[in-house]
Amino acid sequence: MGKAKTRAKAGSGASTKSETKAARKGTAKAEVPQWTDPIPPAMAERALEIHRRLRKAQPAPQVELDHENAWQLLVATILAARSNDRTINEITPELFRRWPTPAALAAAPQEEVEVVVKRSGFFRQKAKAIRQTAAAVVTDFGGEVPSTMAELVTLPGVARKTANVLLNSVFEIPSGIIVDIHVTRLVDRFGFTSETDATKIEALLCRLFPKSSWVDIGHRIVLHGRHVCVARKPKCDRCPLNEVCPSAGAAPVGRWTQRAAWERTLTESRGLVDTLAGA
Ligand code: SF4
Repeated sequence: MGKAKTRAKAGSGASTKSETKAARKGTAKAEVPQWTDPIPPAMAERALEIHRRLRKAQPAPQVELDHENAWQLLVATILAARSNDRTINEITPELFRRWPTPAALAAAPQEEVEVVVKRSGFFRQKAKAIRQTAAAVVTDFGGEVPSTMAELVTLPGVARKTANVLLNSVFEIPSGIIVDIHVTRLVDRFGFTSETDATKIEALLCRLFPKSSWVDIGHRIVLHGRHVCVARKPKCDRCPLNEVCPSAGAAPVGRWTQRAAWERTLTESRGLVDTLAGA
């Protein structure tokens, strides 16, 4: 989770004329994508059972990027693209110590920011992206990260995935469902779809799961993909979803509730405590 997670109030961003203009610009991308094909009843049932089990494995799922407010999570999420959260959590304390606000980062020299974010990979583009985002937050939103999808997607480098991370995690708004590399892999393994287009995957997930679970289901699938259903050698024998997963590659060990308890410990320790290691 983010350290000292801040629960910001929806609508706490600056309310200015330019904000309204920005929101209008982002309206098309702000709409929740629609899945119009019929959903087979067996798939709908499997989705609900998967979520029932994941709820047990991850009762309070949270983003693993450390942050204290919406601004920090926005920057960390941009830096996390094609990197991993552990590395970003090592980089951001120094970044936010040197440039704690959007105004400070917007004014920071490109070369100095590059040095600080170097380990995130693609550091030149990322340093530029976070500085441009900082400038847009200052210019268009009075220095406050906006709290609507329509406004967020007008920021440079912010698409629905990053906006959903922000809205779900900080503002707790069910704006849609986070779709990242883990979610894309898992929807295929779950037998939902082999689509790779993030918008289509989000549309399907929003059909499969009730809106009341949108804030958590994305985090749960991401965490399950990060710690259990990993890209290489998924831990199928210990996976609480084993009996309902068409891609299970090994027989399950014990009851699913025991495996869910194991996943909970593993996830809450961010992968550091594996109570079944060597079992
Ligand atoms: S059973 Fe295996 S493939 Fe299916 S969700 Fe679990 S770890 Fe992934």
